Amino acid sequence: MNNLEISWVFLEIADLLEIKGANPFKIRSYRQASRLLASLDEDISVYWAENRLTELPGIGQALAAKIHELLDSGQLTYLKELRQEVPAQLRQLLLIPGVGPRTVHTIHEHLGIANLEELKKAVSQQKLRELPGLGTKSELAIKGALAKMGRVSVGLPLGEAATVAYELAEAMGQLPVVEYIEVAGEIRRREEFVHQAILVVGARLDLAEDILATFSSAPYVRKVINASPTDITVLLGIGGLKLRLVVVTPSEFPTQLCYYTGSKEHWLHLVAQAKKHQLELTPHALIGKHGPIIIETEEDLYRYLRLEYVIPELRAGKEEVLSAAQGTLPQVISLEQIRGDLHLHTNWSDGKESVASLAQAAIERGYEYIAITDHSQRLRIARGLDARRLNKQIEEIKAVRPKFPNLTILAGIEVDILADGQLDLPNELLAKLDLVIASVHSGFKQDRETMTKRILSALRNPYVDILAHPSGRLIGRRPAYQVDLDTVLKEAQQLGKIMEINSSPERLDLNAEWASKAKNLGLKLAINTDAHDAQRLADMEYGVSVARRAGLEAEDVVNTWPAVRLKWCFQSIRG
Ligand SMILES: [Zn+2]
Ligand SMILES: [Zn+2]
Repeated sequence: MNNLEISWVFLEIADLLEIKGANPFKIRSYRQASRLLASLDEDISVYWAENRLTELPGIGQALAAKIHELLDSGQLTYLKELRQEVPAQLRQLLLIPGVGPRTVHTIHEHLGIANLEELKKAVSQQKLRELPGLGTKSELAIKGALAKMGRVSVGLPLGEAATVAYELAEAMGQLPVVEYIEVAGEIRRREEFVHQAILVVGARLDLAEDILATFSSAPYVRKVINASPTDITVLLGIGGLKLRLVVVTPSEFPTQLCYYTGSKEHWLHLVAQAKKHQLELTPHALIGKHGPIIIETEEDLYRYLRLEYVIPELRAGKEEVLSAAQGTLPQVISLEQIRGDLHLHTNWSDGKESVASLAQAAIERGYEYIAITDHSQRLRIARGLDARRLNKQIEEIKAVRPKFPNLTILAGIEVDILADGQLDLPNELLAKLDLVIASVHSGFKQDRETMTKRILSALRNPYVDILAHPSGRLIGRRPAYQVDLDTVLKEAQQLGKIMEINSSPERLDLNAEWASKAKNLGLKLAINTDAHDAQRLADMEYGVSVARRAGLEAEDVVNTWPAVRLKWCFQSIRG
């Protein structure tokens, strides 16, 4: 057993103890030991052999004895006992996205829930929302996750899949035998939906068996789908994501990584490009007249193929290899170029943070500006702002500004577009704000003509600057509403209005295809997180990857501009 495998054993013990409602200190000591082992540079068996286990921070006699037993026999009696005490059906609940061991403990203790069926029943009877530490929001999240589990699972949205894959890659990367590791495939290309996650590992092939064995013991692996000596695919409990790990020789890593990143069409274009220059490209090597060419990085590979480097997001297999050959690839936007976030919710409506704490979080991300854009009155469920409360919020923003001299805090609103195309707040009020975002949150079932007219009339309001989540889709949950987006984009271009790329992983709206159309029409875009708490400011990277796939450059995206230019832009929209 290696460090990582023992780390995962301790993680499982911590989960089981938490389900049982054991002493929190005990649970924490297993979690800490798990983290320690996952990040330990030296092989734990060295400490063991030298009798130094208890020198490690947090490893007392009891934990040392467990490590001893695991290294000695490859098994742990304590874990076996725990697994018997916590029934398998109860443990299975951990595989529901968003359900952790504490939740399992709570629902088991308070409602006696012991399996999936009972959980579904309790959710439908709205019993979870009354429980300590849960609430309506958690209940609805679990309800959504359960509904998804019912379907034949074909994958996960990018946000969830990427989190799992990068966490696992980081853990596996700690193994001393792993020389290189990279997430490839759809995740590396930032496709919005991931059918299969692929990890490519560079390591000695005679060690592949051990690496694969470790990998298949990872948390939440439900079963091995297929396996060869260097290639394994497992099904994860979480959302039914297929996760593949391929071990390749370190010297082949760059070409293999490129091959497994795809897309298939992109790779075929590279093979053709190689041929054009009397080279042969295979996943194993780039071969010239005098044999294989030494390739140290993916960048090398593109250089030898006489191509500009094509970032993974652009490897769709369309025109990008042609453009790379001509040197005309776009200088796509990067996350570092983002200067602020223009769509944020606070605890004035359905967000979690105060204006000040969002401002603090923005400073920590290195932003120059943010816009506070809470919901308007019609969204009662979100405690949307009416005129009185919006006026009060504007006062609060004014009061907070002096505390953050290096941050421009814009006062804005996400105003509802009502069913008839009117806005949810009067123009006199909107005129007081620095910017106005308009969006549809109701009446999704309107026919195409009505919806298109509705959005057009909102865009024509002189105070509207940005149209948020223009298609209204929720990935895997709700399709886009019926709307003629072509017409909307053209009108927006005429009016000088800005289209949003909403970065929330469940939205990604506009998507890459429409964002690219918007750019070609000459529109400007804003990449916003629509964050309802400070952590979600990090979703910016997902919006940026949509923009990168769309080939957007910094100039196309208004929140890469300095604050002065941005303010001037909003003013000129009002005319
Ligand atoms: Zn919204
Ligand atoms: Zn919003």
